[in-house]
Amino acid sequence: MSVLPILRWPDPRLAQPCAPVDLGDMAGLATLVGEMFETMYAAPGRGLAAPQVGHMLRLFVMDCGWKEGDMTPLACLNPEILEASATHVPGDEGCLSIPGVMAQVLRPDWVVLGWTGLDGTRQSRRLQGFEARCAQHELDHLDGMVTFHRLGAADRAALEADYLGLAQ
Ligand SMILES: [Zn+2]
Repeated sequence: MSVLPILRWPDPRLAQPCAPVDLGDMAGLATLVGEMFETMYAAPGRGLAAPQVGHMLRLFVMDCGWKEGDMTPLACLNPEILEASATHVPGDEGCLSIPGVMAQVLRPDWVVLGWTGLDGTRQSRRLQGFEARCAQHELDHLDGMVTFHRLGAADRAALEADYLGLAQ
């Protein structure tokens, strides 16, 4: 197991859609998932998507409560939103690939997330609050989207200019 380097925006891989995970090599996937959790906890963060560590696969890990002592690790292979609240709510989102930036993003209040677990079975769960937000943020990464893509043009230009200026 090792901590993997995290790609930073505007690395072009963060703007590319990812391919479905081939479930034929669960041992290999378990190793990658273990390294992703280790990388996420070390960062420290609450969610990490495979493209953020250069693996262009539809896979993310999250653990929204660990910083408060409530460990709830979740590894989602080939995740999808099955149902979403019609009500959208704003919330602040950071991203390990955009260090130092908090963006206010509007998202559905709750979602029903479907995914395949490391045991190979298809699962689904209704997520709300920060967990719903985190899962949607990580799912965006699998579609080649970061928080900047969820903002209006003016907000994005201002935040991204700040970020790129600071990153230089
Ligand atoms: Zn992110």
